[in-house]
Amino acid sequence: MIGSIIPHQHVYIYGAGFAGLSLGHQLKKLGIPFTIYEKEKVGGKISTRMTAFGPIEAAASTLYMNAHAEEFIKEMEIPYLNSEKKLKRWIWRKEKLLSPLNFKLALKLLFKAAIRVPSITENSSVEDIFLPLLGRRYVDELLSPALQGIHAAEARDLHFLSLFPFAQNRSYASYFSFFKSLKKEMKKHAAVGIKGSVSFPGGMQSLINKLHEEVSSHIEPLPETFVLRPNTVICTSAPDAAKLLEKVLPEISLKLKEIEYRPISNLSFYLKEELPSLKKSFGMLIPQKYGSPILGIIHQSAVFPSNYSNHCYSVICKGITSEDEIFQELKTKVPGFQKDNILVHSLTAWKTGLPLYDEKRFQTVEKLKQLLKDKPGLMFFGNYTEGISLRSMIEQTRKL
Ligand SMILES: Cc1cc2nc3c(=O)[nH]c(=O)nc-3n(C[C@H](O)[C@H](O)[C@H](O)COP(=O)(O)OP(=O)(O)OC[C@H]3O[C@@H](n4cnc5c(N)ncnc54)[C@H](O)[C@@H]3O)c2cc1C
Repeated sequence: MIGSIIPHQHVYIYGAGFAGLSLGHQLKKLGIPFTIYEKEKVGGKISTRMTAFGPIEAAASTLYMNAHAEEFIKEMEIPYLNSEKKLKRWIWRKEKLLSPLNFKLALKLLFKAAIRVPSITENSSVEDIFLPLLGRRYVDELLSPALQGIHAAEARDLHFLSLFPFAQNRSYASYFSFFKSLKKEMKKHAAVGIKGSVSFPGGMQSLINKLHEEVSSHIEPLPETFVLRPNTVICTSAPDAAKLLEKVLPEISLKLKEIEYRPISNLSFYLKEELPSLKKSFGMLIPQKYGSPILGIIHQSAVFPSNYSNHCYSVICKGITSEDEIFQELKTKVPGFQKDNILVHSLTAWKTGLPLYDEKRFQTVEKLKQLLKDKPGLMFFGNYTEGISLRSMIEQTRKL
């Protein structure tokens, strides 16, 4: 979150995506009065389409767990489904699917991590930090694919301190001591009971419906003209927040426009038969050096078998990609894929798919924090402010 709200006063929320709804949940819990305005659709990017074969998610398909997310699920009193554990993960490499980690690599890394020192600066990219440890090949074929699965961006485009904020103003004697403090950091907020990640019977829409139900009496029609009242929280994407503030706060609006987004397409489908190459696996990632628009494929029915009794796959692509282009790519990249085996499919695409966690976003957020210091009662909240996942947004609401 960027900015602050005035304690105990009515809060005006713009946007009822996951950010606006989870903020509403927290305000209700704290007994703070609030109103939510939504321009298009409650839930924002998140929605589940029910087909004759099972659910298809438009955006998020899972809520990653930690102590905050676990507490949130319990407060919501919503039934949830645990993800399957011990699923294989594959990396596509020159027509073969390879397991990302092997014994030889682990041994090499362990040795290097113990003796090499990471040199972290304010401007370092994730690649700057990990290239000396992993080397070019493993940055391109292991680290970048893993990151593109979450951020839709490669290691070279991601700002190190944005992803690992605990490392700010700290130095490490070796990579090993960095990994030790990363583990400690993760343990601090680790979930106690619910491990891994969860979905919900009926998909992510069930979570949205439950949140919607909880705050429905606080949702009012969007006023025709925007008036900046004290205690306004803008829970839209950065470009939409910029549009809202264009006339009332032009300097802040211009800053918000600097935050870059990656367009993303998601093609989900059910197949008549399971893909043998992705059996018992979470899915596969395709290193971007092979020039594919596909970032990764999630084998939804392996991750949440109780939600998907048929064979469901989600293909996440960079850019606004056409169905035909994705099908063509699948034919060449996924052993066993045949378009004729598709029972039903659905394509969703967003220009503002995910915010890019690059150095520019980091500097812009810092500048916005400064600009809002003398404007209590104005706040920005969304997946561009502090963390890209739903879990991270829950964590941010808990700081209120
Ligand atoms: C393909 C894909 C897969 C993903 N998978 C996962 C996952 O598995 N797990 C995970 O944790 N995250 C995942 N994410 C990320 C997650 O879905 C998003 O971060 C999250 O849904 C964004 O929520 P938000 O509320 O910030 O924004 P949005 O969902 O974009 O909501 C913003 C809302 O503001 C409204 N709005 C805009 N302008 C105005 C205005 N002027 N007045 C009022 N309202 C306005 C919009 O209509 C919208 O409803 C995924 C994202 C994508 C694209």
